[in-house]
Amino acid sequence: MIQLFLPLNFLGFVYREIRRALTDLENMLGLLKRKPQITDHPDAAELQLKKGELQFAEVSFGYQASRPILRQLSFRVAAGTKVAVVGASGAGKSTLARLLYRFYDVSAGSIRIDGQDISRVTLDSLRRAIAIVPQDTVLFNSSIRDNIRYGRPDASDEEIDHAIELAHLTGFIASLPKGDATEVGERGLKVSGGEKQRIAIARAILKRSPILVFDEATSALDSAAEQAILQAMREVARNHTSLVIAHRLSTITDADNIIVLKNGELAEQGTHDELLAAKGEYARMWQLQQKQQH
Ligand code: ATP
Repeated sequence: MIQLFLPLNFLGFVYREIRRALTDLENMLGLLKRKPQITDHPDAAELQLKKGELQFAEVSFGYQASRPILRQLSFRVAAGTKVAVVGASGAGKSTLARLLYRFYDVSAGSIRIDGQDISRVTLDSLRRAIAIVPQDTVLFNSSIRDNIRYGRPDASDEEIDHAIELAHLTGFIASLPKGDATEVGERGLKVSGGEKQRIAIARAILKRSPILVFDEATSALDSAAEQAILQAMREVARNHTSLVIAHRLSTITDADNIIVLKNGELAEQGTHDELLAAKGEYARMWQLQQKQQH
């Protein structure tokens, strides 16, 4: 009996596995068939880049209609300047970056680059104009150099070397047994959060986009790692219009303008000194973070 039972049991297992695989395939094909939410407008034109000025004009947005995240938010990032966005966790800071890269469309208002509404330009030309340094960078199972080259695959060797230098990765790479040929990613060398962000900065340098979005990692970094990132960012910001989503106020005291978000609205804006003097929301956040550090 057992001789018959075992093969039948095995056949049952094979049958269930095949059925599950077919269902997975069906789900996947369904996903592929579903129209992507964000597509080019029928009249979309190529983004005409001039100086790289960025403007949020009366922008409202919610992931669900019932829960607004941003309410009529307006601010401008003049070409070549650095604007920081701060606010409590969940205030909507990273949402601004997602809207700018058009992972979602605004519910009302508009986002403009050099005067052009981003919902009316091709996604391809929009995303070429913006380099994002995300909170958590994905590294491929390949060498560090290939991971950096990913920023612009046709970059020359000299350009990659220069990006490595500007991103303050030279010392780190020199400390590795195989230098920039060292394999990283899931199956290679584990890279720290700070090193990953500097690899992302090197990618952004290579991409040569006029607009840079830096989403600062929430995880705490030791002060040496933070200083290395800050120096790298300063180098990059020199030639870019930059929007910095900041969690630690100490990293953005040099910003040309600081936007303070509260409940999806612009609570106040100004330079670090102006906001401290105003003794409002920013000044309270600053005092709190100063206390936490000591
Ligand atoms: P943090 O400082 O913690 O990174 P944040 O200010 O960047 O926060 P966002 O990530 O912009 O906040 O999120 C704003 C709000 O939107 C949060 O309440 C969050 O839960 C919600 N949210 C974010 N992403 C989604 C999503 N994909 N679907 C639904 N709600 C979301």
